[in-house]
Amino acid sequence: MSRRFFVGGNFKMNLVVNSVTSIVTNLNTAQLDPSTEVVIAPPSLYLLLVRQLADSKIGVAAQNVFDKPNGAFTGELSVEQLRDAHIDWTIIGHSERRVVLKEDDDFVARKTKAAIDGGLSVILCIGESLDEREAERTIEIVTRQLNAVAECLSKNQWTKVVIAYEPIWAIGTGKVATTAQAQEAHAAIRKWLAEKISSESAENTRVIYGGSVSDGNCKDLAKQPDVDGFLVGGASLKPAFVDIVNSRI
Ligand code: PGA
Repeated sequence: MSRRFFVGGNFKMNLVVNSVTSIVTNLNTAQLDPSTEVVIAPPSLYLLLVRQLADSKIGVAAQNVFDKPNGAFTGELSVEQLRDAHIDWTIIGHSERRVVLKEDDDFVARKTKAAIDGGLSVILCIGESLDEREAERTIEIVTRQLNAVAECLSKNQWTKVVIAYEPIWAIGTGKVATTAQAQEAHAAIRKWLAEKISSESAENTRVIYGGSVSDGNCKDLAKQPDVDGFLVGGASLKPAFVDIVNSRI
């Protein structure tokens, strides 16, 4: 399998200078599986600091970016500003932004395109709510979310995307998807890639799982053939993050 295992740490709106410094310093000195790609996403205020502090083998991601190049957009950050700060990645479409900040599929797709056109790589988050899962609409929802992005991107731009399947009911709840639930959704996403983008993209695109990933559940999830890594929230703030990075050894 050619896909490099990928573990992202989404710090969300947590930490201050002291605590973010100590987390990054600990990661720099930890024994991280070199075959795993590690990318951490601090709050935007700390992007420059974290990029300066973090070892060059650790990637840094913004948690969001705007779709316009510059101008009167109070509170937003542009792709160019991230690139200027040597930030190579951004998360886009996290469910907390889709739900709390009412970001729709179209806006997520436009931001993804702007990010990739401008040279960033994207951790694209998709996933269903509990109601949608109970109504057996999971595949329909993730397909709708992916189709919106596919309308904006050219097929070769999918090489810059890591897809994070994050069922909303599993995020921050301690209720992790079962290995079977994760594998089923990931296999469906890979089938969508094969049918809609290309067989090459299905083979090469990383599909990672997010939602209450911990050092206790990561090893089983990592054994699933279509789980290529994790996007970790709460546990990325703890020493357990190192065990999640190392979940395949
Ligand atoms: P969690 O968050 O690990 O705290 O559930 C995951 C995420 O929101 O990316």
